[in-house]
Formats: sequence, structure tokens, C-alpha cells
Amino acid sequence: MVKFDQNSFSLKGKVALITGGARGLGKYYSIALSTYGADIFIVSRKQDGWEEVQKIIESNGQRVEFLSQDITEPGAADKIINAVIRQFGKLDILVNNAGIQLRNDVLDFKDEDWLKVINLNLNASYFLAHVAAKVMSKQRSGKIINIGSMQSYRAGKRIFPYAASKHGILGLTKAYADALAPYNIQVNGLAPGYIMTDMTKALQEDPVRGPEIKEHIPSGEWGVPEELMGPMVFLASSASDYVTGVMLPVDGGYLLR
Ligand code: NDP
Repeated sequence: MVKFDQNSFSLKGKVALITGGARGLGKYYSIALSTYGADIFIVSRKQDGWEEVQKIIESNGQRVEFLSQDITEPGAADKIINAVIRQFGKLDILVNNAGIQLRNDVLDFKDEDWLKVINLNLNASYFLAHVAAKVMSKQRSGKIINIGSMQSYRAGKRIFPYAASKHGILGLTKAYADALAPYNIQVNGLAPGYIMTDMTKALQEDPVRGPEIKEHIPSGEWGVPEELMGPMVFLASSASDYVTGVMLPVDGGYLLR
């Protein structure tokens, strides 16, 4: 009897916490996971996008709850995971998505900008995964998915803390994957390539960098957010139960060159 069918990708009965899950790329992760049956808990500071994503998740037949919270505040991780447990009674999937990028020339880079990016992109993910793992280890199952980027592998000469934080998230993914495997918790990452979003609009339209990037991508095209949805569902579902500690690039082959 082969134990593999369409249910291997099902997320029915699962609860997913997605940081920054109401707008940008996070919105697509919330929609992807709810399309496959997960209930969703979204945390962000502002309420931008909440109403729109709520409509879509509910039209998928799933429940969504929101919390307005800065995830870099001390104690935020406990507060957030407690709220998820209060609402849903469990936590199966954590997507560490919220992130920022601040640019400057090296000699002008401000210490406070370094701290802002590291605190959000790296430290908040560490703390949330830490508290989530305490819940998931008791359940003897869980999926933690960290969002990396091309800067998990490459430098970025005007985005020092971003490149450091995204390299850090790759290391964190491996370390947690190793440590949490005995509890049947898989920890993986998704590294979006050059995706057409508001955040990258200026880059797409830059007369020098725009064509340079396109030229560098073997597929010859920037990605669209929808292309991240299948990989996200795969990493969140039991179809990937023997996959742990990898950061999956979704980049049209960008890293090959
Ligand atoms: P956006 O800026 O569009 O969205 C970021 C989300 O995170 C928002 O929902 C925001 O909500 C939330 N957020 C930001 N700061 C905090 C905070 N302190 N506490 C709680 N929530 C916060 O980002 P993208 O969708 O572009 O990026 C999402 C992730 O994908 C990031 O990790 C980014 O590095 C990565 N990525 C993006 C790429 C792209 O092409 N866009 C490419 C590669 C990687 P609010 O402001 O209300 O708090």
C-alpha cells in the first residue's frame, strides 16, 4: 500500500501563524495555506490588508484571527503564541515572513538601522520559533518555515544588515532543523528570487539594475507572488515530512549563475 495521495498536501485541521501575513508576499502565503485547509493567525503592527485577506480566507472556508503586535518587542513571541493557543488550541505551522530592507552606502550605514533589520528579520524569527517549538514538541509535530532571500546566499553592498540577517536565517533554519528533528518538527526555508512586488518596483524600473537582473535569470523573467504558493504548501504539508534544514530557492534559476 503506497501512503501517498492528494491528502499528503492537505492542511485540513492545521493552524498556521504567519507574521506579516496580510499584505505583500505574506498575503499569498496566507491564501495558499488556507486554500489547502489551514486556519490562519496573522500578526502585523497595522491593520493594512486585514479585511481583504479575511474575505479570501473565509471564502476558502477557513477561519482567520488577527493580532496587532510589533514582533520585535520584548516578550512578543510569548504573547503571540499564547494568543494563537487561546484562539485555536494548537499551532502546527509557523511562517516567519515579516521582514524589512534598509539601504545605505557602507560608510553611512547607521547603527540603529542595523539593529532594526537584525531585530526583525533574525531575532524575532528566533524567538517565535523558540516559543512555537515548545508547543509543537508537545504535539510531536510541526513545521517552521523561515523566509530567506537571494541574500541568504549572496552579498548586497547597500543592504548590509539585510544580507547578514538572511544569511543568519539560513543558519538558524539548519540549527533548528537539527535540534528539533527528534520532536518531528521540520524546519525549512523559502528563498524568493526577484519577485514583482511593490517592494521591488523601483528595482524593476531601474534602467540599469532592472535589465541586469532579468539578464541574470535563466528563465529570463521576474517571478510573480503566485509562484511561491505551491512551494509554501509543500513545505507546510506532510508531503515534505522527510525534508528538513533546506532553504528552497524559488528564483527561476537566479542562483545558478
Ligand atoms: P512587505 O513590506 O510588503 O510586508 C511586510 C509585512 O511584515 C507587513 O505585513 C508588515 O505589516 C509586517 N511587519 C513589518 N514589520 C513588522 C513588525 N515589527 N512586527 C510585525 N509585523 C511587521 O514585505 P514583503 O512581502 O516584500 O516581504 C516579506 C518577506 O519576504 C520578507 O522577509 C522579505 O525579506 C522577503 N522577501 C521579499 C522579496 C520581494 O520581492 N518582495 C524577495 C525576497 C524575500 P505592518 O507594517 O503592519 O507591521
